[in-house]
Amino acid sequence: KLHNMIQELKGNIRVFCRVRPVLPRELASPATSGTRSGPFSNGSTNPEDHAKTLVADIGFPDKRDHKEIVLTSTSSSAMGQQRKEVSAFSFDRVFEPESTQCDVFEEISLLAQSCVDGYNVCIFAYGQTGSGKSFTMEGGSTEATVGMIPRAVNEVFRAADTLRSKGWQYTMEGQFLEIYNETINDLLGKGEFDKKKHEIKHEKTATNASTRVTDVNVMPLRTPREVSALLRLANSRRTVAATLMNERERCEGSLNLVDLAGSERLNSSGAAGLKERLKETQNINRSLSALGDVIAALGEKGEKGEKHIPYRNSKVGRSFMHALLRLPLLFLIGDRVGIFANLCCRASPSSPILCPG
Ligand code: ADP
Repeated sequence: KLHNMIQELKGNIRVFCRVRPVLPRELASPATSGTRSGPFSNGSTNPEDHAKTLVADIGFPDKRDHKEIVLTSTSSSAMGQQRKEVSAFSFDRVFEPESTQCDVFEEISLLAQSCVDGYNVCIFAYGQTGSGKSFTMEGGSTEATVGMIPRAVNEVFRAADTLRSKGWQYTMEGQFLEIYNETINDLLGKGEFDKKKHEIKHEKTATNASTRVTDVNVMPLRTPREVSALLRLANSRRTVAATLMNERERCEGSLNLVDLAGSERLNSSGAAGLKERLKETQNINRSLSALGDVIAALGEKGEKGEKHIPYRNSKVGRSFMHALLRLPLLFLIGDRVGIFANLCCRASPSSPILCPG
């Protein structure tokens, strides 16, 4: 049954929208009072920006089965002009502000399980800084608030344990990389910081195709605790950006944990005026737009047959391209660009009878 369900999902891209609750500090703000500003409040401190603050009223037209949100936005310019726009967006599912971490995980837990079966799944959260990506993906420390990443890591280990008891052998390992200004850094590199030059290598044999990053440290992972410890270490070492790769062999699955840059515009990121920050932000934006192109192209692929996938536009786009196509589970979250981690599980049947088709 599980396989049939996954088969059905395979090749599809599903898009969910999670609207976070209005925060107490936003309730006190005149820009958002009386509206459901949700993920659209921009939280900027720039007065020019503040004048253009988007006041968004989010509506859910189909109350039984939230699949669409209607956004009515009023923007007022510094000149005092007012503009009203109504836009509708369709999603496979919309999670209202009352939705719990558990509700969201219910949608993706099957995909986390499929990681150990070697299926390719990518799950990512995308949106402006402050929209709730980290809350959703990392979450808090209590049972109710814990996010998708720790839930998924637990699920992967749990699913592997179940399969172990049925005669499979699993080994898990991880690599932690970042892409910063289009350069790849190994966050588990030895010494102060990894100074090695890493490259993305795409190799094709008659029977298999694999993508890997050269000269990267790979750590064995035995428990979800070890994953979080390594995530913390890698996180403390990273500059800003990151991406990951992994090699694929036999029935091999990966859980890719990605921390992606916020999607806000250049002029609202506070980068203007500082040359370095500007370059960084431009690279982040180039990477994000390459990722957007890749995802859009993937989405159209099923309907229109083979299509040019613009994954060479940037390393991040290219990496994601391979991650999306080849790796079982990919997570992206916000604030900063970067793939945190690549949890790779290799499975081999201890009895040939259990060998998958
Ligand atoms: P992002 O990662 O997109 O920048 P955050 O996850 O940091 O945004 O969320 C911004 C703020 O909103 C945080 O204080 C977070 O705790 C809160 N928040 C986000 N989503 C929710 C939610 N579903 N329920 C309650 N608080 C939330």
